[in-house]
Amino acid sequence: MENELLNNTVNTEVLVIGGGAVGVAVARHFAREGAQVVLLERESTIGSGTSSRSSGVIHAGLYYPEGSHKERLCIEGKALLYRYCIDNGVPFEQTGKWIVASTGQESRLEAIHDQAVKNSVSVRRLSKHEIHRSEPELRCRAALESPSTGIIDAHYLIHSLVRDFELAGGLVHCRAEAVSVEILGDKAQTVLRDGTHVIAGLVINAAGLDALALVPESVAHSYKNYYLKGSYFSYGGKIPFKRLIYPLPSDEGLGIHLTLDLSGAARFGPDARPVVEREFSVNRGDLPMFVSAVSEYWPQCDIKKLKPDYAGIRPKLHDGGTVVEDFVFMDQSIGTQSPVISLLGIDSPGLTSALAIAGHVFDLFHKKASFTKT
Ligand SMILES: Cc1cc2nc3c(=O)[nH]c(=O)nc-3n(C[C@H](O)[C@H](O)[C@H](O)COP(=O)(O)OP(=O)(O)OC[C@H]3O[C@@H](n4cnc5c(N)ncnc54)[C@H](O)[C@@H]3O)c2cc1C
Repeated sequence: MENELLNNTVNTEVLVIGGGAVGVAVARHFAREGAQVVLLERESTIGSGTSSRSSGVIHAGLYYPEGSHKERLCIEGKALLYRYCIDNGVPFEQTGKWIVASTGQESRLEAIHDQAVKNSVSVRRLSKHEIHRSEPELRCRAALESPSTGIIDAHYLIHSLVRDFELAGGLVHCRAEAVSVEILGDKAQTVLRDGTHVIAGLVINAAGLDALALVPESVAHSYKNYYLKGSYFSYGGKIPFKRLIYPLPSDEGLGIHLTLDLSGAARFGPDARPVVEREFSVNRGDLPMFVSAVSEYWPQCDIKKLKPDYAGIRPKLHDGGTVVEDFVFMDQSIGTQSPVISLLGIDSPGLTSALAIAGHVFDLFHKKASFTKT
C-alpha cells in the first residue's frame, strides 16, 4: 500500500479517514464484511487523538433521551464492547457507578432514574443505610446505582480492533492527512497532504475534532465546531470508594466525577470549558474549583494529593448557536448515491458506542454498496 500511495492515485472500495476508536471500529466492520478498505491516520500512531484522552468509562446509557443516536448506540455499543473484551482479552472491569445527589438535588436524581427506566437500562435507588455501610466517606442525600457501567483499556481496545482490521485485509496508513474530499460522479476523491489522490466508492470521515473541516461549507449548513475542553486532576492517595462516583450532570458534561483506571489509579474530572484553540495543558489554577466540586461528595479529599493530569477536547457542534447534543451522521448524497458520510459531534459516549456506530454506518451504506467476500 505504501508504494501505491506514493504513486499519486489509489483506488479502493472504502476509505476511512481517522484512526481513533470510531474510525478503526468502522474500518474493521467494513473489512470484515468483505470490503477493500484503507484507513488513513494523520499522526504517526493510531489512537492518539481524543480516544487517548477520555475517562475510559463504558457508559451504561442512562442519560440520553430515548430515540437519540446516543441512547441507542451507547446501549448497543456497551453490550458489544463487553462481549468484544471477553472474546478478545481486552482488559476491562464492570465496576458499576453511583450517581449522587446533594441536598435539593433529589428531584434531578429521580429524573435520571426515570430516564434510565425509559431507556431500559438497569438502575437502582440506594437506601441511606446501604450508602453509609458500603461507602462511609461518601456524603450525599440520595444515590442511584448503575451496575452495568465499567472501565476499559482504550489503547488495548484500539490496537485489538486494528489487528482484526488488518487480518481482514485492511490497510492502515499513518502520517497520511486528508486535506479535501469531493464527490466525483458516484465516487469520492480524497486528496492527501502529500498530493496523493484516493478514489473510493465510499468515504467515511471519522476525523474527530477535524471532521467538520472536511465537509464542504455548502453541506455543513450552519454547523460550527464547539470545542469543550475537559481537564483531569489525578489523586495521589488511597481512594476509599469501590466504584466510580458521579455527581449530577451539568449542562455541559457529566460533572467532575471519580474515575478509576485498571491499575487502580484515581482521577477526578473532566470539567467543561469552551475553548477556541486546541491546547491540552491542565491549569493548576483550577485546583480550587476541583476541590470544591469533589468535596461536595467527598469532604475528606486531601487537597495536597490532587495534581494536574491530562485534558481532552470534546468535538461538539453548534447549530445556529445551539449546542448539538446528539451524534450527527451527515450523508453527502448525490441522487441515490451517498459516497461520503461524515461522523460529527462524536463526543462522549463515543468510545462506548464505537462498535455500534460501526454497524450503524455500515447499515446506512450497505443497501447501496455490495462487497465481494473473499
Ligand atoms: C475529556 C473526555 C472524556 C471522555 N470520556 C469518555 C468516556 O469515559 N467514555 C466514552 O464512551 N467516551 C468518552 N469520551 C468520548 C470519546 O473519547 C470520543 O467520543 C471518541 O474517542 C471519539 O473517537 P473518534 O475516533 O471519533 O475520534 P479521535 O479519537 O479524535 O480520532 C480521530 C482521528 O482522526 C485523525 N485525523 C484528524 N484529521 C485527519 C485528517 N485530515 N486526515 C487523517 N486523519 C485525521 C486524528 O489524528 C485522530 O487520530 C470522552 C471525551 C473527552 C474529550
